[in-house]
This record gives sequence, structure tokens and C-alpha cells, in this order.
Amino acid sequence: MRNTGPRSRERTSLTDLAGDIKRLVPMADAAALYGFPPNRAGYICCPFHAEKTGSCKIYPEDGGWHCFGCGAGGSVIDFVMKLFDLNFQQACLRLNMDFRLGLTRDEPDRAARSERLEEMRREKQRREKLEAEYRELAEEHRKLWQAKLLAAPTEADMTADTIHPLFVEACHKLPGIEYRLDEIMDELGRRGERQTGTTKSRIS
Ligand SMILES: [Zn+2]
Repeated sequence: MRNTGPRSRERTSLTDLAGDIKRLVPMADAAALYGFPPNRAGYICCPFHAEKTGSCKIYPEDGGWHCFGCGAGGSVIDFVMKLFDLNFQQACLRLNMDFRLGLTRDEPDRAARSERLEEMRREKQRREKLEAEYRELAEEHRKLWQAKLLAAPTEADMTADTIHPLFVEACHKLPGIEYRLDEIMDELGRRGERQTGTTKSRIS
């Protein structure tokens, strides 16, 4: 039987809070925030044993983490418990605070709480979509940039008017891509982090 009325408030238990946290905080984000940004392959140097090459795998979404070096592992909450020597509840509250989740155990209005969760899920999806677009565009930018360098006309080409179509295409497309990359960075609130090509200029 489902709890209704005043009792439903009790469902906002620590277990609910922990579940929400695991859904909302990707392990990679937590590791990065606490000083262990995963490398391209998704590994970090394990905070729990001494090592120089990362053997602690960070899994996507709520997949948690596992260290192949020392065998430690678990959820994002376990990570924070171990890292800061906290108990389960303290770790949940810390993540709630550090990721500004706004999930408190005694929030009176359950409807407002699920609305807030829904809003956060949408925001997360929006960011993921932008990040995917960014990765795709950055890759295209890299290829065009290389093509532009490789197909750059020599003086002889200029005289003979035989400019490589790849060069023309790259010159044509690169500024638009750079503009969009900057826009995405703005939308993600990460202005100044863009790292593609060898120029920051929008005009090349
Ligand atoms: Zn380890």
C-alpha cells in the first residue's frame, strides 16, 4: 500500500536522498570536483592507494567507481565517505551541498521536490546534449584545421589559381564552427575553456 497524507513526508528518507544523489551526480563530476578529473579513458589516480598511473575506473552515470589497484569501489556516496572520512548521512549531505542539489530530508512539499528533480534532470540533459554537440564540432574543427594546413596553397598555386577545394572549404567553414563552439561554451558557462585549433580568433 502506498503512503499517502502526512505519512508520505516520511518517505523523504535518507534512502530516497541517497537514490536521488546517485541519479543526479555523475561519478565523473564528483571525482573532478574533488580534485580527481578522469582521463580520456575514464581513469583517475586512486585517492586510496599510492600510484602514479591511474587504475581507478570511473563509470558513467550512476555506475560508480572501482580501483583495479587496491580493490576499493562503490557508489559516488562511498567515494565521498572514503575521501573525507564521513559516514553515509554526512556524505549524502556533503554531495547535496557541493552539487547544490537542494534535496533536504525534510523538505515539506513533495510535489515541489519532484518538480525540482525534474528541472534538474532537464538541465542535465540540456548540458549533455550541448557537450555532445561540442565534442562533435571540436572533432570536425580539428579535421578541417588539419586540412587547411595541409591544403594551404603555395605561391605557385596562387599564381596558377589552383587553390585546393579542401582549403576553400576549411576557410569557409571554420569561422562558423568556432563561433558555435564559443556559443556552446557560453551556454555551458565555461567561457575561456575552448581548446581547438591553434587560434582563439573567430576569423581565420
Ligand atoms: Zn586504489
